[in-house]
Amino acid sequence: MVRVRFAPSPTGHLHVGALRTALFNWLFARHHHGTFILRIEDTDLARSSEEMSRSILEALRWVGLDWDEGPIYQSQRFALYRERARQLVEKGLAYYCFCSPEEIEQRRQEAQARGEHWKYDRRCLNLSQEEKEKLLAEGRPAAIRFLVPEGVIKYEDLVHGPISVDNRNIEDFVLLRSDGLPTYHLSVVVDDIDTRITHVIRGDDHISNTPKQILLYRAFAAPVPRFAHLPLILGPDRKKLSKRHGDTSVLSFRDKGYLPLAFFNFMAQLSWSPGPEERIYSIEEMVRDFSLERISKGSPVFDLAKLEWLNSRLINELPVNELISQLRPWLERERLWREEFLKDKKDWFEKLVILIRSRCRTLVDLKEMLRPFISDKINYDPEAVKKYLSDNRLEQLLPILKKDFQALENFTAAETERVLRERAEKEGVKAAALIHPLRVLLVGKSVSPGIFDVLEFMGKEKTLARIDNFSEARKILQAHGGGVS
Ligand code: GLU
Repeated sequence: MVRVRFAPSPTGHLHVGALRTALFNWLFARHHHGTFILRIEDTDLARSSEEMSRSILEALRWVGLDWDEGPIYQSQRFALYRERARQLVEKGLAYYCFCSPEEIEQRRQEAQARGEHWKYDRRCLNLSQEEKEKLLAEGRPAAIRFLVPEGVIKYEDLVHGPISVDNRNIEDFVLLRSDGLPTYHLSVVVDDIDTRITHVIRGDDHISNTPKQILLYRAFAAPVPRFAHLPLILGPDRKKLSKRHGDTSVLSFRDKGYLPLAFFNFMAQLSWSPGPEERIYSIEEMVRDFSLERISKGSPVFDLAKLEWLNSRLINELPVNELISQLRPWLERERLWREEFLKDKKDWFEKLVILIRSRCRTLVDLKEMLRPFISDKINYDPEAVKKYLSDNRLEQLLPILKKDFQALENFTAAETERVLRERAEKEGVKAAALIHPLRVLLVGKSVSPGIFDVLEFMGKEKTLARIDNFSEARKILQAHGGGVS
Protein backbone atom coordinates (compact mmCIF):
# COMPACT_ATOMS: atom_id res chain seq x y z
CA MET A 1 0.00 0.00 0.00
CA VAL A 2 1.44 3.35 -1.08
CA ARG A 3 2.03 5.84 1.73
CA VAL A 4 3.62 9.17 0.90
CA ARG A 5 4.08 12.45 2.68
CA PHE A 6 4.56 16.11 2.01
CA ALA A 7 6.76 17.69 4.65
CA PRO A 8 7.09 21.46 4.34
CA SER A 9 8.99 23.62 6.81
CA PRO A 10 6.78 26.49 7.95
CA THR A 11 9.50 29.11 7.66
CA GLY A 12 7.74 30.97 4.86
CA HIS A 13 4.70 30.81 2.62
CA LEU A 14 4.32 27.71 0.45
CA HIS A 15 6.30 28.38 -2.70
CA VAL A 16 5.80 26.86 -6.11
CA GLY A 17 8.74 24.44 -5.86
CA ALA A 18 7.32 22.89 -2.70
CA LEU A 19 3.85 22.82 -4.18
CA ARG A 20 5.03 20.76 -7.13
CA THR A 21 6.47 18.24 -4.63
CA ALA A 22 3.13 18.16 -2.81
CA LEU A 23 1.26 17.74 -6.04
CA PHE A 24 3.30 14.80 -7.27
CA ASN A 25 3.01 13.07 -3.92
CA TRP A 26 -0.73 13.63 -3.95
CA LEU A 27 -1.16 12.42 -7.55
CA PHE A 28 0.93 9.36 -6.80
CA ALA A 29 -1.09 8.55 -3.68
CA ARG A 30 -4.42 9.05 -5.40
CA HIS A 31 -3.34 7.04 -8.45
CA HIS A 32 -2.47 4.08 -6.23
CA HIS A 33 -5.40 4.56 -3.84
CA GLY A 34 -2.76 5.14 -1.20
CA THR A 35 -2.39 7.54 1.69
CA PHE A 36 -1.15 11.13 1.52
CA ILE A 37 0.21 12.43 4.80
CA LEU A 38 0.94 16.03 5.70
CA ARG A 39 3.79 16.70 8.08
CA ILE A 40 4.88 20.13 9.26
CA GLU A 41 8.64 20.17 9.83
CA ASP A 42 8.77 22.87 12.48
CA THR A 43 11.83 21.75 14.44
CA ASP A 44 13.53 25.07 13.79
CA LEU A 45 11.57 26.86 16.47
CA ALA A 46 13.11 30.24 15.79
CA ARG A 47 12.26 30.28 12.11
CA SER A 48 8.96 28.39 12.09
CA SER A 49 5.63 30.00 12.83
CA GLU A 50 2.04 28.95 13.24
CA GLU A 51 1.01 31.65 10.86
CA MET A 52 3.13 30.10 8.12
CA SER A 53 1.74 26.63 8.90
CA ARG A 54 -1.76 28.01 8.44
CA SER A 55 -0.77 29.72 5.25
CA ILE A 56 0.68 26.46 3.88
CA LEU A 57 -2.55 24.57 4.63
CA GLU A 58 -4.53 27.36 3.00
CA ALA A 59 -2.41 27.18 -0.14
CA LEU A 60 -2.75 23.38 -0.36
CA ARG A 61 -6.51 23.62 0.04
CA TRP A 62 -6.75 26.33 -2.58
CA VAL A 63 -5.04 24.14 -5.15
CA GLY A 64 -7.35 21.29 -4.17
CA LEU A 65 -4.96 18.98 -2.30
CA ASP A 66 -6.45 17.14 0.64
CA TRP A 67 -4.58 14.89 3.05
CA ASP A 68 -5.55 11.65 4.71
CA GLU A 69 -3.38 11.87 7.83
CA GLY A 70 -1.90 14.78 9.74
CA PRO A 71 -0.88 17.46 9.87
CA ILE A 72 1.76 15.92 12.09
CA TYR A 73 3.81 18.61 13.83
CA GLN A 74 7.40 17.64 14.49
CA SER A 75 7.63 20.14 17.33
CA GLN A 76 5.30 17.84 19.28
CA ARG A 77 7.64 14.89 18.91
CA PHE A 78 10.92 16.12 20.36
CA ALA A 79 10.94 13.61 23.23
CA LEU A 80 10.57 10.78 20.77
CA TYR A 81 13.49 11.89 18.62
CA ARG A 82 15.71 12.10 21.72
CA GLU A 83 14.72 8.63 22.77
CA ARG A 84 15.47 7.18 19.34
CA ALA A 85 18.87 8.85 19.18
CA ARG A 86 19.71 7.40 22.62
CA GLN A 87 18.59 3.96 21.47
CA LEU A 88 21.16 4.15 18.68
CA VAL A 89 23.84 5.10 21.20
CA GLU A 90 22.90 2.11 23.31
CA LYS A 91 23.22 -0.16 20.32
CA GLY A 92 26.65 1.27 19.52
CA LEU A 93 25.40 2.79 16.27
CA ALA A 94 25.78 6.38 17.44
CA TYR A 95 27.92 8.15 20.03
CA TYR A 96 28.08 11.21 22.24
CA CYS A 97 30.20 14.06 20.97
CA PHE A 98 31.43 16.72 23.37
CA CYS A 99 33.39 18.78 20.88
CA SER A 100 32.29 22.39 20.81
CA PRO A 101 31.70 24.09 17.45
CA GLU A 102 34.80 26.21 18.09
CA GLU A 103 37.00 23.16 18.68
CA ILE A 104 35.71 21.53 15.53
CA GLU A 105 36.23 24.67 13.51
CA GLN A 106 39.81 24.91 14.71
CA ARG A 107 40.60 21.32 13.76
CA ARG A 108 38.88 21.79 10.42
CA GLN A 109 41.10 24.76 9.65
CA GLU A 110 44.20 22.82 10.69
CA ALA A 111 43.25 19.97 8.40
CA GLN A 112 42.68 22.40 5.59
CA ALA A 113 46.07 23.99 6.17
CA ARG A 114 47.60 20.53 5.81
CA GLY A 115 45.69 20.19 2.53
CA GLU A 116 43.46 17.45 3.90
CA HIS A 117 39.76 17.05 3.25
CA TRP A 118 37.98 17.51 6.58
CA LYS A 119 35.30 15.38 8.04
CA TYR A 120 34.62 14.92 11.74
CA ASP A 121 37.69 13.15 13.12
CA ARG A 122 35.85 10.85 15.55
CA ARG A 123 37.72 12.24 18.52
CA CYS A 124 34.77 11.54 20.82
CA LEU A 125 34.24 8.03 19.47
CA ASN A 126 37.58 7.14 20.92
CA LEU A 127 36.95 8.49 24.42
CA SER A 128 37.20 5.89 27.13
CA GLN A 129 34.13 4.92 29.11
CA GLU A 130 35.41 6.82 32.17
CA GLU A 131 36.13 9.95 30.17
CA LYS A 132 32.67 9.86 28.69
CA GLU A 133 30.97 9.33 32.01
CA LYS A 134 32.99 12.08 33.60
CA LEU A 135 32.04 14.57 30.90
CA LEU A 136 28.40 13.57 31.06
CA ALA A 137 28.42 13.85 34.87
CA GLU A 138 29.99 17.31 34.57
CA GLY A 139 27.02 18.25 32.48
CA ARG A 140 29.13 19.00 29.39
CA PRO A 141 26.80 19.64 26.45
CA ALA A 142 26.80 16.57 24.26
CA ALA A 143 25.51 16.03 20.76
CA ILE A 144 24.80 12.58 19.39
CA ARG A 145 26.56 11.62 16.18
CA PHE A 146 25.76 8.74 13.91
CA LEU A 147 28.57 6.26 13.44
CA VAL A 148 28.81 5.90 9.68
CA PRO A 149 29.73 2.28 8.88
CA GLU A 150 32.04 1.28 6.07
CA GLY A 151 30.57 0.35 2.72
CA VAL A 152 28.78 1.81 -0.25
CA ILE A 153 25.20 3.03 -0.35
CA LYS A 154 23.39 2.10 -3.53
CA TYR A 155 19.83 2.89 -4.42
CA GLU A 156 17.67 3.25 -7.47
CA ASP A 157 16.21 6.73 -7.69
CA LEU A 158 12.86 6.56 -9.46
CA VAL A 159 13.68 9.67 -11.46
CA HIS A 160 17.47 9.65 -11.73
CA GLY A 161 18.21 5.94 -11.87
CA PRO A 162 20.97 4.19 -9.93
CA ILE A 163 22.93 6.28 -7.43
CA SER A 164 25.81 5.09 -5.31
CA VAL A 165 27.87 6.83 -2.67
CA ASP A 166 30.92 5.53 -0.85
CA ASN A 167 30.39 5.92 2.88
CA ARG A 168 33.92 7.25 3.17
CA ASN A 169 32.51 10.49 1.81
CA ILE A 170 29.97 10.75 4.59
CA GLU A 171 31.02 12.13 7.94
CA ASP A 172 29.57 11.02 11.25
CA PHE A 173 26.66 13.43 11.07
CA VAL A 174 24.85 14.84 14.06
CA LEU A 175 21.48 13.33 14.98
CA LEU A 176 20.76 15.25 18.14
CA ARG A 177 22.25 18.65 18.83
CA SER A 178 23.72 19.43 22.23
CA ASP A 179 20.63 21.54 23.01
CA GLY A 180 18.51 18.39 22.65
CA LEU A 181 16.95 19.35 19.31
CA PRO A 182 16.96 16.79 16.53
CA THR A 183 18.62 17.44 13.21
CA TYR A 184 16.61 17.16 10.03
CA HIS A 185 18.05 13.69 9.27
CA LEU A 186 16.90 12.23 12.54
CA SER A 187 13.40 13.69 12.64
CA VAL A 188 12.69 12.97 9.00
CA VAL A 189 13.71 9.32 9.21
CA VAL A 190 12.00 8.68 12.55
CA ASP A 191 8.77 10.14 11.19
CA ASP A 192 8.99 8.37 7.86
CA ILE A 193 9.49 5.09 9.70
CA ASP A 194 6.67 5.73 12.17
CA THR A 195 4.23 6.66 9.41
CA ARG A 196 5.37 3.72 7.28
CA ILE A 197 6.24 5.85 4.26
CA THR A 198 6.79 3.73 1.17
CA HIS A 199 7.95 6.41 -1.29
CA VAL A 200 9.85 9.60 -0.54
CA ILE A 201 9.14 12.05 -3.34
CA ARG A 202 10.91 15.39 -2.87
CA GLY A 203 13.09 18.02 -4.51
CA ASP A 204 16.54 17.40 -5.96
CA ASP A 205 18.05 19.53 -3.21
CA HIS A 206 17.63 16.51 -0.93
CA ILE A 207 19.51 14.06 -3.12
CA SER A 208 22.70 14.42 -1.09
CA ASN A 209 20.78 13.71 2.12
CA THR A 210 19.45 10.39 0.95
CA PRO A 211 22.53 8.17 1.58
CA LYS A 212 22.68 9.38 5.18
CA GLN A 213 19.01 8.69 5.63
CA ILE A 214 19.31 5.22 4.14
CA LEU A 215 22.04 4.50 6.71
CA LEU A 216 19.64 5.60 9.42
CA TYR A 217 16.82 3.34 8.20
CA ARG A 218 19.23 0.44 8.36
CA ALA A 219 20.37 1.41 11.83
CA PHE A 220 16.75 1.44 12.97
CA ALA A 221 16.25 -1.91 11.20
CA ALA A 222 13.39 -0.40 9.23
CA PRO A 223 12.48 -1.00 5.57
CA VAL A 224 14.00 1.62 3.27
CA PRO A 225 11.42 3.47 1.15
CA ARG A 226 11.86 4.15 -2.56
CA PHE A 227 13.15 7.61 -3.44
CA ALA A 228 12.22 9.95 -6.27
CA HIS A 229 13.96 13.31 -6.51
CA LEU A 230 12.26 15.94 -8.62
CA PRO A 231 14.38 18.21 -10.80
CA LEU A 232 14.89 21.80 -9.77
CA ILE A 233 12.54 24.38 -11.29
CA LEU A 234 14.31 27.14 -13.24
CA GLY A 235 13.33 30.71 -14.00
CA PRO A 236 13.10 31.90 -17.61
CA ASP A 237 16.80 32.88 -17.42
CA ARG A 238 17.62 29.23 -16.63
CA LYS A 239 18.76 30.06 -13.11
CA LYS A 240 17.20 28.48 -10.02
CA LEU A 241 13.70 29.88 -9.58
CA SER A 242 13.69 32.40 -6.77
CA LYS A 243 12.12 35.62 -5.57
CA ARG A 244 14.19 37.46 -8.18
CA HIS A 245 11.81 36.03 -10.73
CA GLY A 246 8.79 37.54 -8.96
CA ASP A 247 6.60 36.38 -6.12
CA THR A 248 6.80 32.58 -6.04
CA SER A 249 4.35 32.00 -3.22
CA VAL A 250 1.38 29.85 -4.21
CA LEU A 251 -1.18 32.19 -2.67
CA SER A 252 0.12 35.08 -4.75
CA PHE A 253 -1.15 33.20 -7.80
CA ARG A 254 -4.56 32.87 -6.21
CA ASP A 255 -4.48 36.60 -5.53
CA LYS A 256 -3.61 37.36 -9.14
CA GLY A 257 -6.78 35.65 -10.26
CA TYR A 258 -5.58 32.26 -11.48
CA LEU A 259 -8.01 29.38 -11.23
CA PRO A 260 -6.92 26.46 -9.03
CA LEU A 261 -7.34 23.90 -11.80
CA ALA A 262 -5.28 25.94 -14.27
CA PHE A 263 -2.58 26.37 -11.66
CA PHE A 264 -2.71 22.66 -10.85
CA ASN A 265 -2.25 21.84 -14.54
CA PHE A 266 0.58 24.30 -14.92
CA MET A 267 2.43 22.99 -11.87
CA ALA A 268 1.88 19.33 -12.76
CA GLN A 269 3.18 19.97 -16.23
CA LEU A 270 6.49 21.15 -14.77
CA SER A 271 8.39 17.83 -15.13
CA TRP A 272 5.45 15.70 -16.17
CA SER A 273 3.17 15.63 -19.14
CA PRO A 274 -0.33 14.31 -18.57
CA GLY A 275 -0.88 13.75 -22.28
CA PRO A 276 0.18 14.71 -25.78
CA GLU A 277 -2.02 17.79 -26.10
CA GLU A 278 -1.47 21.21 -24.59
CA ARG A 279 -4.71 21.62 -22.73
CA ILE A 280 -6.40 21.60 -19.37
CA TYR A 281 -6.57 18.09 -17.95
CA SER A 282 -9.12 17.24 -15.31
CA ILE A 283 -7.92 16.09 -11.90
CA GLU A 284 -9.42 12.66 -12.64
CA GLU A 285 -7.40 12.35 -15.85
CA MET A 286 -4.20 13.37 -14.08
CA VAL A 287 -4.79 10.95 -11.21
CA ARG A 288 -5.57 8.15 -13.67
CA ASP A 289 -2.44 8.69 -15.79
CA PHE A 290 0.14 9.78 -13.25
CA SER A 291 3.35 7.79 -13.04
CA LEU A 292 6.72 8.55 -11.49
CA GLU A 293 8.46 6.83 -14.40
CA ARG A 294 7.27 9.55 -16.74
CA ILE A 295 8.80 12.40 -14.76
CA SER A 296 11.54 13.99 -16.84
CA LYS A 297 15.03 14.41 -15.46
CA GLY A 298 15.65 17.80 -17.03
CA SER A 299 14.93 20.99 -15.13
CA PRO A 300 11.61 22.54 -16.16
CA VAL A 301 11.31 26.27 -16.79
CA PHE A 302 8.68 28.26 -14.95
CA ASP A 303 7.00 29.99 -17.87
CA LEU A 304 4.29 32.40 -16.79
CA ALA A 305 3.08 32.81 -20.37
CA LYS A 306 2.04 29.17 -20.29
CA LEU A 307 0.18 29.65 -17.01
CA GLU A 308 -1.67 32.62 -18.51
CA TRP A 309 -2.50 30.61 -21.57
CA LEU A 310 -3.85 27.70 -19.53
CA ASN A 311 -5.80 30.05 -17.31
CA SER A 312 -7.47 31.90 -20.15
CA ARG A 313 -8.22 28.59 -21.75
CA LEU A 314 -9.94 27.35 -18.62
CA ILE A 315 -11.81 30.63 -18.16
CA ASN A 316 -13.23 30.06 -21.63
CA GLU A 317 -13.92 26.35 -21.24
CA LEU A 318 -15.59 26.24 -17.85
CA PRO A 319 -19.36 25.94 -17.72
CA VAL A 320 -20.39 29.53 -17.13
CA ASN A 321 -22.11 28.84 -13.80
CA GLU A 322 -18.86 27.33 -12.47
CA LEU A 323 -16.89 30.32 -13.66
CA ILE A 324 -19.38 32.58 -11.93
CA SER A 325 -18.98 30.71 -8.64
CA GLN A 326 -15.22 31.20 -8.84
CA LEU A 327 -15.70 34.86 -9.68
CA ARG A 328 -18.23 35.50 -6.97
CA PRO A 329 -15.82 36.01 -4.04
CA TRP A 330 -13.90 38.52 -6.12
CA LEU A 331 -17.04 40.54 -6.74
CA GLU A 332 -18.20 40.16 -3.15
CA ARG A 333 -14.95 41.55 -1.84
CA GLU A 334 -15.57 44.73 -3.79
CA ARG A 335 -19.28 44.81 -3.07
CA LEU A 336 -20.06 44.26 -6.73
CA TRP A 337 -21.91 41.00 -6.25
CA ARG A 338 -25.71 40.94 -6.29
CA GLU A 339 -27.97 37.98 -5.61
CA GLU A 340 -30.01 38.79 -8.69
CA PHE A 341 -27.08 37.54 -10.80
CA LEU A 342 -28.31 34.10 -9.81
CA LYS A 343 -32.01 34.96 -10.05
CA ASP A 344 -33.76 37.65 -12.12
CA LYS A 345 -30.62 38.71 -13.92
CA LYS A 346 -29.13 35.24 -14.30
CA ASP A 347 -29.56 35.04 -18.03
CA TRP A 348 -28.23 38.55 -18.60
CA PHE A 349 -25.26 38.00 -16.29
CA GLU A 350 -24.28 34.65 -17.77
CA LYS A 351 -24.42 36.01 -21.30
CA LEU A 352 -22.37 39.02 -20.25
CA VAL A 353 -19.70 36.80 -18.70
CA ILE A 354 -19.62 34.71 -21.88
CA LEU A 355 -19.26 37.84 -23.99
CA ILE A 356 -16.37 39.14 -21.93
CA ARG A 357 -14.40 36.07 -21.00
CA SER A 358 -12.62 35.60 -24.33
CA ARG A 359 -10.66 38.75 -23.56
CA CYS A 360 -9.65 37.72 -20.05
CA ARG A 361 -6.58 35.91 -18.79
CA THR A 362 -7.43 36.03 -15.10
CA LEU A 363 -10.36 36.49 -12.75
CA VAL A 364 -8.99 39.95 -12.07
CA ASP A 365 -9.37 40.81 -15.77
CA LEU A 366 -12.87 39.41 -15.70
CA LYS A 367 -13.85 41.39 -12.63
CA GLU A 368 -12.44 44.59 -14.10
CA MET A 369 -14.18 44.10 -17.44
CA LEU A 370 -17.48 43.44 -15.70
CA ARG A 371 -17.19 46.42 -13.42
CA PRO A 372 -18.69 49.09 -15.74
CA PHE A 373 -21.71 46.86 -16.32
CA ILE A 374 -22.46 46.13 -12.69
CA SER A 375 -21.29 49.22 -10.87
CA ASP A 376 -22.82 52.67 -10.95
CA LYS A 377 -19.45 54.24 -10.48
CA ILE A 378 -17.15 54.42 -13.42
CA ASN A 379 -13.45 55.19 -13.58
CA TYR A 380 -12.24 56.88 -16.71
CA ASP A 381 -8.82 56.03 -18.02
CA PRO A 382 -7.19 59.44 -18.59
CA GLU A 383 -5.35 58.19 -21.68
CA ALA A 384 -8.57 56.96 -23.27
CA VAL A 385 -10.37 60.21 -22.42
CA LYS A 386 -7.55 62.22 -23.91
CA LYS A 387 -7.49 60.18 -27.05
CA TYR A 388 -11.19 59.90 -27.76
CA LEU A 389 -13.09 62.59 -25.88
CA SER A 390 -11.03 65.63 -26.82
CA ASP A 391 -12.88 66.34 -30.06
CA ASN A 392 -15.15 69.37 -29.45
CA ARG A 393 -17.61 68.29 -32.14
CA LEU A 394 -18.77 65.67 -29.67
CA GLU A 395 -20.51 68.39 -27.69
CA GLN A 396 -23.07 68.58 -30.51
CA LEU A 397 -22.94 65.00 -31.76
CA LEU A 398 -23.45 63.16 -28.50
CA PRO A 399 -26.76 64.77 -27.52
CA ILE A 400 -28.15 63.96 -30.99
CA LEU A 401 -27.00 60.36 -30.74
CA LYS A 402 -28.50 60.19 -27.29
CA LYS A 403 -31.86 61.24 -28.68
CA ASP A 404 -31.62 58.56 -31.36
CA PHE A 405 -30.98 55.95 -28.71
CA GLN A 406 -33.72 57.32 -26.51
CA ALA A 407 -36.23 56.84 -29.30
CA LEU A 408 -35.35 53.16 -29.72
CA GLU A 409 -37.97 50.70 -28.56
CA ASN A 410 -35.71 47.67 -28.75
CA PHE A 411 -32.34 48.56 -27.37
CA THR A 412 -30.50 45.70 -29.08
CA ALA A 413 -27.07 45.45 -30.63
CA ALA A 414 -28.58 45.43 -34.14
CA GLU A 415 -30.82 48.43 -33.54
CA THR A 416 -28.21 50.57 -31.85
CA GLU A 417 -25.80 49.78 -34.66
CA ARG A 418 -28.36 50.80 -37.25
CA VAL A 419 -29.14 54.17 -35.70
CA LEU A 420 -25.51 54.96 -34.95
CA ARG A 421 -24.43 54.30 -38.52
CA GLU A 422 -27.32 56.32 -39.92
CA ARG A 423 -26.48 59.18 -37.62
CA ALA A 424 -22.81 59.14 -38.60
CA GLU A 425 -23.73 59.30 -42.23
CA LYS A 426 -26.17 62.17 -41.75
CA GLU A 427 -23.62 64.17 -39.82
CA GLY A 428 -20.87 63.41 -42.29
CA VAL A 429 -18.58 61.68 -39.78
CA LYS A 430 -17.15 58.19 -39.71
CA ALA A 431 -18.94 55.69 -37.47
CA ALA A 432 -15.65 55.28 -35.57
CA ALA A 433 -15.81 58.94 -34.58
CA LEU A 434 -18.89 58.06 -32.54
CA ILE A 435 -17.98 54.52 -31.55
CA HIS A 436 -14.68 55.28 -29.81
CA PRO A 437 -16.01 58.12 -27.66
CA LEU A 438 -19.07 56.07 -26.83
CA ARG A 439 -16.91 53.18 -25.67
CA VAL A 440 -14.88 55.41 -23.38
CA LEU A 441 -18.05 56.90 -21.92
CA LEU A 442 -19.63 53.51 -21.35
CA VAL A 443 -16.75 51.46 -19.98
CA GLY A 444 -14.13 54.08 -19.15
CA LYS A 445 -11.49 52.46 -21.35
CA SER A 446 -10.50 52.27 -24.98
CA VAL A 447 -10.99 48.50 -25.14
CA SER A 448 -14.13 46.45 -24.67
CA PRO A 449 -16.11 43.78 -26.46
CA GLY A 450 -17.92 44.95 -29.62
CA ILE A 451 -19.52 48.29 -28.83
CA PHE A 452 -23.02 47.28 -29.89
CA ASP A 453 -22.96 44.25 -27.62
CA VAL A 454 -21.75 46.55 -24.87
CA LEU A 455 -24.71 48.86 -25.52
CA GLU A 456 -27.20 46.03 -25.39
CA PHE A 457 -25.79 44.64 -22.16
CA MET A 458 -25.49 48.06 -20.58
CA GLY A 459 -29.14 48.75 -21.34
CA LYS A 460 -30.79 51.94 -22.42
CA GLU A 461 -31.01 53.69 -19.10
CA LYS A 462 -27.37 53.26 -18.16
CA THR A 463 -26.21 54.10 -21.68
CA LEU A 464 -28.07 57.40 -21.72
CA ALA A 465 -26.81 58.30 -18.27
CA ARG A 466 -23.23 57.55 -19.28
CA ILE A 467 -23.49 59.67 -22.43
CA ASP A 468 -24.48 62.49 -20.10
CA ASN A 469 -21.18 62.00 -18.27
CA PHE A 470 -19.31 63.56 -21.17
CA SER A 471 -18.45 66.87 -19.49
CA GLU A 472 -17.71 65.13 -16.22
CA ALA A 473 -15.35 62.70 -17.91
CA ARG A 474 -13.53 65.50 -19.67
CA LYS A 475 -12.71 67.13 -16.34
CA ILE A 476 -10.07 64.43 -16.00
CA LEU A 477 -8.17 66.17 -18.76
CA GLN A 478 -7.70 69.28 -16.67
CA ALA A 479 -6.76 67.21 -13.63
CA HIS A 480 -4.10 65.47 -15.71
CA GLY A 481 -2.94 68.69 -17.35
CA GLY A 482 -3.91 67.38 -20.76
CA GLY A 483 -6.26 70.22 -21.78
CA VAL A 484 -9.23 69.83 -24.09
CA SER A 485 -8.68 70.68 -27.69
N1 GLU B 1 11.20 19.85 5.26
C1 GLU B 1 11.95 19.57 4.07
C2 GLU B 1 11.83 20.71 3.11
O1 GLU B 1 10.95 21.54 3.27
C3 GLU B 1 11.49 18.33 3.36
C4 GLU B 1 12.11 17.12 3.88
C5 GLU B 1 11.88 15.88 3.05
O2 GLU B 1 11.00 15.89 2.17
O3 GLU B 1 12.55 14.91 3.31
O4 GLU B 1 12.62 20.81 2.20
